[in-house]
Amino acid sequence: MLIKTFVFNHFGENTYVVSDENSRKCTIIDPGCFFEQEKQELKNYILNENLQVESILFTHCHLDHAFGANFLATEFPQAKICAHKNEEVFITEALNQSLRFGINMEQPPHITHYVNDSEIIHIGEIKLQAIFVPGHSAGSLCFYSAKDNILFSGDVLFQSSIGRSDLLGGNHNLLIEGITKKLLNLPNETVVYCGHGPTTTIKNERETNPFF
Ligand SMILES: [Zn+2]
Ligand SMILES: [Zn+2]
Repeated sequence: MLIKTFVFNHFGENTYVVSDENSRKCTIIDPGCFFEQEKQELKNYILNENLQVESILFTHCHLDHAFGANFLATEFPQAKICAHKNEEVFITEALNQSLRFGINMEQPPHITHYVNDSEIIHIGEIKLQAIFVPGHSAGSLCFYSAKDNILFSGDVLFQSSIGRSDLLGGNHNLLIEGITKKLLNLPNETVVYCGHGPTTTIKNERETNPFF
């Protein structure tokens, strides 16, 4: 598994390209590229690495994770658009929401594949298991590879912090419960790739995160 990290847009959002070395298949997790230069940077990486985009995979569909979805769906029309069904509202409301921030974004494409809890997403040889952890948004998913000891946590879990729960569909208690029961029990050495900020490990968060 190869992971390429980009930090994009006004919100410093992490976009990840996860690719399988042998098949050259990849998924783009949370396409936040907003500025033209960011879009080209991501596109050029995919072209230069000779990758085939299987899917656009959303941990959730907040604006900062979806700014580049229209661009990528247009550039790579074969890619499935994958997210939990509870996130559809953010796709529908994206333009209204972005205008509230004074940002003009392109309409993100509608979800073409609803991802369920525990579902396995295949990218060539790579298997990512969806873990449903609502509370930051109502359809938040994390993606876990036991083989590679990697978790993509979206805005659910950050280094020494957790996602906010005061936005539409947020629920603080659900978030704490979900992280405790579904994430902090993963193996110590699991490396956590967050939606914002640096990577961390499950061991580090279990021992030092002030919310637990
Ligand atoms: Zn978010
Ligand atoms: Zn975010």
